[in-house]
Amino acid sequence: MTRSPQTRTFQKFETFGKFGSANLYSFAAAFYFLKEETHPILKKKISILGSTGSIGTQALEVIEANPDHFELEAITANENADLLIKQAIQFKPNLVVIANEDKYQKVFDALDLLDIKVYAGENALCHAAELEEVDVVLTALVGYAGLKPTLRAIEAGKAIALANKETLVVAGELVTTLAKKKRVPILPVDSEHSAIFQCLAGEYSNPIEKIILTASGGPFRGKDKGFLTDVKKEQALKHPNWDMGAKITIDSASLMNKGLEVIEAKWLFDLTNDQIEVVVHPQSIIHSMVQFEDGSIKAQMGLPDMKLPIQYALTYPGRLKNNFPRFNFMDYPELTFEKPDLNTFKNLALSFEALKKGGNQPCILNAANEIAVSKFLEDRIGFLEMSDVVESCLNKISFISTPNFDDYVETDKETRILATELIN
Ligand code: NDP
Repeated sequence: MTRSPQTRTFQKFETFGKFGSANLYSFAAAFYFLKEETHPILKKKISILGSTGSIGTQALEVIEANPDHFELEAITANENADLLIKQAIQFKPNLVVIANEDKYQKVFDALDLLDIKVYAGENALCHAAELEEVDVVLTALVGYAGLKPTLRAIEAGKAIALANKETLVVAGELVTTLAKKKRVPILPVDSEHSAIFQCLAGEYSNPIEKIILTASGGPFRGKDKGFLTDVKKEQALKHPNWDMGAKITIDSASLMNKGLEVIEAKWLFDLTNDQIEVVVHPQSIIHSMVQFEDGSIKAQMGLPDMKLPIQYALTYPGRLKNNFPRFNFMDYPELTFEKPDLNTFKNLALSFEALKKGGNQPCILNAANEIAVSKFLEDRIGFLEMSDVVESCLNKISFISTPNFDDYVETDKETRILATELIN
């Protein structure tokens, strides 16, 4: 069967098929065994939660470059009304949401003459996630704020293109159980998880022996605790390979980002802790790898550019031609690999421990880290103190082995209070 470029744009979930009870990746894939010839050509309708951020703006570039494939239904921001207005005027979505209600009037006035609905507040954010017309919700919010709208999108049966890793860190079991129940695919945007997902294409019945998550090591790779004691946010915000939002850039410098990704991978690919290995690969060319039962390792490679995984999540299972810069092996004669330094960068070890203990521990890890990072960005604590805050919270907040949604909300709240007290 030949596939015309247009048929690849079709995306309604027709089949559940024999993969219904398998791992989430297989289960996600099963939705996309499309009856390509029997359906009309449709564009995917996209809602972007967090359109003004690093992922959100790059997603808009992908959408702008492919007007035959995508239609923008909704965009949301938290504070950045000016950019949100600019995006709304350019893309003319049906709905624009500004989470901060104080900015509502400004956005409303600017878009008054256009045929665009403008809403504000947390409920409106959830509304953008469950609009009837929407096929795919790209969750590009940062932090815990992504959890509720993602759950609402899944409840509404929307495919999730997941950038907001914190959602799976905080409540991975709850989110994936609901996704399975609602038969909703969760398509990874994080470059490492997209790499694993791409390696798994065509391997849906082959068990994974382990996955190997690559880490750049961040700007402080090879540094010791003495050096890290005095580093400032300006140094931590200079990532060697990736240009990202402030929170994830600090998380990358402290290796917390890799810790969060370990937990994200566990839930996305239904793995046990000892099936997840982290390898430092400073060039960020191999985005991650899968080792199968026969020992064979598949890797996905390319230049560090988030537009590729964003596009793949939106076009899966197809691929779209683009003009992104191409990788040339001759420019990278040496690809190197190292063990992560878990002693200096304690966050990665804490993440593995939180994952092992389970329950609400990853939720505590995430909330404490969000407070620690925000205080580091305000110059209120040092770089190494971020891990100390996280460790104290993990030790002090009550353990809940099988949390429900309310338990996660309460754990998040308690942890933020404790972390703030520890810092003040
Ligand atoms: P940014 O900080 O650049 O953008 C965050 C977006 O979320 C902005 O649109 C922001 O609005 C909005 N936002 C922030 N807080 C809230 C809130 N409380 N309520 C509603 N909206 C909010 O983040 P990134 O794009 O870097 O990251 C987004 C997610 O993607 C994170 O979970 C990150 O870990 C993940 N990710 C990012 C990568 C990257 O390359 N950037 C790579 C892989 C994963 P406003 O602009 O108005 O503040």
